[in-house]
Amino acid sequence: MNRVYNFSAGPSMLPMPVLERAAAEMICYGESGMSVMEMSHRSPDYEAIINDAEKMLRELMQIPENYKVLFLQGGASTQFAAVPLNLIGRTGKADYVVSGQFSGKAFKEAQKMGYDVKCVATTKEDNFDHIPALSREMFREDASYVHICYNNTIYGTKYAEIPDTGDIPLVADMSSCILSEPVDVSRFGVIYAGAQKNMAPAGLTLVIVREDLLEYADPAMPTMLEWKTMAENSSMYNTPPCYCIYVAKLVYEWLLSIGGLAEMKARNEKKAALLYDYLDAQSYYIAPVKKGSRSMMNVTFVTGDAELDKKFAKEAGAAGMKNLKGHRSVGGMRASIYNAMPYEGVEALVAFMKKFAAENPKA
Ligand SMILES: *Cc1c(COP(=O)(O)O)cnc(C)c1O
Repeated sequence: MNRVYNFSAGPSMLPMPVLERAAAEMICYGESGMSVMEMSHRSPDYEAIINDAEKMLRELMQIPENYKVLFLQGGASTQFAAVPLNLIGRTGKADYVVSGQFSGKAFKEAQKMGYDVKCVATTKEDNFDHIPALSREMFREDASYVHICYNNTIYGTKYAEIPDTGDIPLVADMSSCILSEPVDVSRFGVIYAGAQKNMAPAGLTLVIVREDLLEYADPAMPTMLEWKTMAENSSMYNTPPCYCIYVAKLVYEWLLSIGGLAEMKARNEKKAALLYDYLDAQSYYIAPVKKGSRSMMNVTFVTGDAELDKKFAKEAGAAGMKNLKGHRSVGGMRASIYNAMPYEGVEALVAFMKKFAAENPKA
């Protein structure tokens, strides 16, 4: 077996102990005589899995009692539509911060449905190289919610702090930073995340929603998008993404076993610092993101020469460091160093960066 360091932005690496456990239980789960993939979602074995998953996630994230945890399908992109459909009924309007591609898509989706949505801030004119400065006065007082993307996967930016929206519920897409550090859930009305970056295989979408926000859904909306229906049925209105939830449970177990999100944050900070400190100490590579907005999960850099960037990604791949090519819309390089990326992977990357710079002087 020859495992590589996989720097993919998503789907991405899973912790080795999780893969090993899933492999060991693949054909026969416990005493059940079957794989989790073959199990009825209404069976006692499976009910224990999904209940444990929720319990562990609540413990990890310290999710308050008055929040519901939903395990859904459809990816984060489906939530771009579900968010307005579930919440706009509060006041009829909503505010968006556009800090990158995914928040832009979320904004457009709400606009497409004909709602009164406003982009209150964007850093588009700066190529999304930082998170816009936000203050409470920028939001419409009667907005149903304010939507942000907490970590911008493509550009490699992240909010340094949770924006203050006063009494307006804050909705955050946390697809690429969920479980990377402790967050104060009570500061948010809704947190959602596609699982495939930092939590589980693709196919599972997590929604954490404050209970009082379940009352504003448009009655004509599709049942499958209605959080209230999903909450009332404990995510079992229809067949949930059973196997993904099982793997998510293994990931939660792993996180608890290493000491929870505080320990995970310490490890992630150490990995990110290794890479950013190197980037700051040399001039061959350029890190385009402004310092106060740097992501701990997705680190972007360029050589300034598109041909060299291409060569970098190719040679890194041959050296066992895969998927370092930046997003197709921005080019350059991106190292996604999610929870499952070991420190050694980042050490190997920095060593490779030094070697590449020495071997490929710029004209
Ligand atoms: C990957 C990603 C998405 C899209 O997720 P899907 O599950 O593919 O729909 C949305 N938002 C962010 C922040 C992402 O990183």
